[in-house]
Formats: sequence, structure tokens, C-alpha cells
Amino acid sequence: MGLVIYNSLSNKLEEFKPQNGNKVNMYVCGPTVYNYIHIGNARPVIFYDMLKRYLTFLGYDVTYASNITDVDDKIINQAIKENKTEKVVAKFFEDAFFDATEKVGSKKPDIIPHATEYIGEMIDFIQKLIDEGYAYNVDGDVFFRVNKIKDYGCLSNQVSADLESGARINVNDKKENPLDFALWKKTDVGIKWNSPFGEGRPGWHTECVVMNHKLFGTGLDIHGGGMDLKFPHHENEIAQFEALYKTHLAKYWIHVGRLDLAGAKMSKSLGNVIYVKDLNTTKDAMILRTLIVLSPYRNIIPYSQELLDQYKKEYEKWQRAYKQSLYELQYQNVNLCDNDEKYIESFKEYMNQDFNVQNVLTLINEIVKEINVTLRGKDYNRNAICLNTLKTILDVLGINLFVEKLKDEELELYKKYNDARAIKDFETADLYRKKLIELNIL
Ligand SMILES: [Zn+2]
Repeated sequence: MGLVIYNSLSNKLEEFKPQNGNKVNMYVCGPTVYNYIHIGNARPVIFYDMLKRYLTFLGYDVTYASNITDVDDKIINQAIKENKTEKVVAKFFEDAFFDATEKVGSKKPDIIPHATEYIGEMIDFIQKLIDEGYAYNVDGDVFFRVNKIKDYGCLSNQVSADLESGARINVNDKKENPLDFALWKKTDVGIKWNSPFGEGRPGWHTECVVMNHKLFGTGLDIHGGGMDLKFPHHENEIAQFEALYKTHLAKYWIHVGRLDLAGAKMSKSLGNVIYVKDLNTTKDAMILRTLIVLSPYRNIIPYSQELLDQYKKEYEKWQRAYKQSLYELQYQNVNLCDNDEKYIESFKEYMNQDFNVQNVLTLINEIVKEINVTLRGKDYNRNAICLNTLKTILDVLGINLFVEKLKDEELELYKKYNDARAIKDFETADLYRKKLIELNIL
């Protein structure tokens, strides 16, 4: 049995089988760039980076796209506030976004489409929906006619009646039905484009679905995003896609749970936001990543300093073991790059169970224990195999321990220290020990 993942669309665990052999197309909803990202926003970015790494490790050829929403009311408001253009604001926060994602060890996606690069396609798409009766124009606002889609609500698993009662809170007289959503918004303020429907800008749900189709056609395997995007955003993407292309937008929908702070949702209005940019060091950011990748991805993470400290303890324990062994193997001149296949098989087995990362954590600790035991027992060959295996697994998870091999002059000191100890010249050993501590080697 290969990889089994939970498909939010069927609400079932399913064996992962991409549409086209070993090729995987993945699209993840990216940020609206009007502010810095907080540690909760970082969670999906970290998870999908890990997912791509793991699929690649399994031998899949993955194309990962994640968009930048660079036109939105929030960006327009921020631009007005800062007395800058939307373009300048969006570019600034896009750069800040990638600084933050790099800090938490996530690589850039293979494709980064910007909503503003696809406005022409979006206008065509909306026009087609109007032509086919799936959308209607009221005074320059264009809405999607939800009741034309029979299985609307299939993803969020809500029946239309429930959805409608919820949607009535936002009654808009212009709409035929409270559930209908905007494809094109007539705007007076901020950046706008000309269209057959009048001046305005596209709606968010339309942006993502158009970029998706442009990039992957009907060949999307995985569509991802945070759990809170399920409804209405993803539901509305599905509805538009089905209307025009008569098929499902993506084969697998994967949703990542929230990261909440001290039992509350992290939000600017509550004043309890921790921004990624404010994490003191790259090591702190890596510990956050460790916490996130080793927490069950569909559950809420109840973030607290205590929880972070638990993962810090684990991380530092692995770092210590890795460092001591790496230097000792260098000193002993042991160069082995094999993995322990038994450990790797266990890793795959756990990851293939819809990412059973709790078992992965236990496995990592087993390996680290064996690294320590084999180092003490001077079984350097076995020690090297365990060390490589640990590195292989941590690389797939994107966890960097920031330990490099000793440089020549450092290795020289390390040798002298060990040589002095070997002949029980503790006074000399102590001198070298102090130097090595200064260099952060011991
Ligand atoms: Zn989206």
C-alpha cells in the first residue's frame, strides 16, 4: 500500500493515485499580500513544502504552484493608508512573505502566479459564465448563480438550506440568492480594470480558479489550503470550474488545521499575533517548523510557549547527538553514506498513513538513541549509518539542524584535544577544550 491521504472531498482516507502516472500537480492557495505573516499563516506553507518534499522522496515528479493574491480590498485599503500604489504595497509584503517562508525552511513553489497577471483570462472566464447562464451582471457587479450547480456544498458538506441561512446574514439586494457570490466587483476606490461588465476587479474565488485552470487544465491532483478556506473559497472554486469545464477541479483536497494561540484564534483584532519576522533566530524558526511538521496536520495546534519548549528540547537533543557524531566520524575518518533501510521503511510506513507524524517523532528519537549508543560504543560504521538515516528523514521533513562538518583548522584542534585525552594529558586537553567550547564545537 502506498501513500494514503485524507481527501476532504470524500471525507475518506484514499490511496493517493495521481491522474498522470508519476506526475503530481499541486495548487495551494497563497497569501493576500497586505501584511506580515504570523505563525498560524506559516502552518500551511510549512505543511505543503513538506508534502512536496515527501512526494518527491517517494519518486513523484511534483509541480507545486501557489499563488499571490495581489489585488484585494485589504491591499487597496492598506495602499490608501500608506499613500502608496497597490503594486508597491503588494510587492513589499510579497517579499516579506518569502523572507518569512525561507526562515521557516520552506522552498519557493515551482510556479508563483500573481492574480494581476491573469486579469484578461479572468474577464474571459466571467464572460463565458454569463454566456452560459451561470452568472449575471447587476449594475456592473457579476454574481455566480449557485443554484445552477446541483452538488453545491459538496466539499464543505453542508446542504444548501444551511448555507443559505448562514449567508442571509450578509443580505445583498442585488443577488438573486443569498449564496450567490461575486465574480466581478464594481469598484470606485483603488485599482480597477476595464471589462465588458464595467470598471472593477475580479473576486478572489475567480482568481484562484482561473489561475488553476490556466496552469493545470483539468489535470490538478492536489488542491490545498487552510481548513478555513473550505467554505466559501474552495466550494466556490469548485462550482465555477464545474460550470465551465463539467468536471471536478481537483482529485484530492487537502486541508490543514489552524494554529491557535492559547486557546484563541490568532488575530490582529485580539492583539495576540506572533509574526514570523519577529522570531529571534533561524533556530527558533526551525523549532517552530519542527512543532508544525510533527503535529497531526488536520488537528488544531494549541500553540503555547510550553508546547514550543517541548519541541525545542527534542530539537536540541537531536542537534547534540548529530553534532557529536558528525565530528567524531570526521575525526575517525569514517565516510559512510548508506541509510538503514529498516528505519527508512518505518518512516515511509508512518508517513503513508495520512502522515502519522507522532510515530515519526518516536522513530526519530529511536534513531537518535542509537546514534548516542553507537557513539559511546565506538561502533562508528553503525553510527554513520544511523546519522545518515536521521539526516535523510529530517531533510524530507525540512528540519535543518544547522550542523556543518568541521573546517580543517577546527578538525585540527579537535584532534589535538582528543589526542591529549588519549594520553591522559588533561591539562593540555583542557586548554583545547576551552577553545573548542569558544568555537561552539563542544
Ligand atoms: Zn484560492
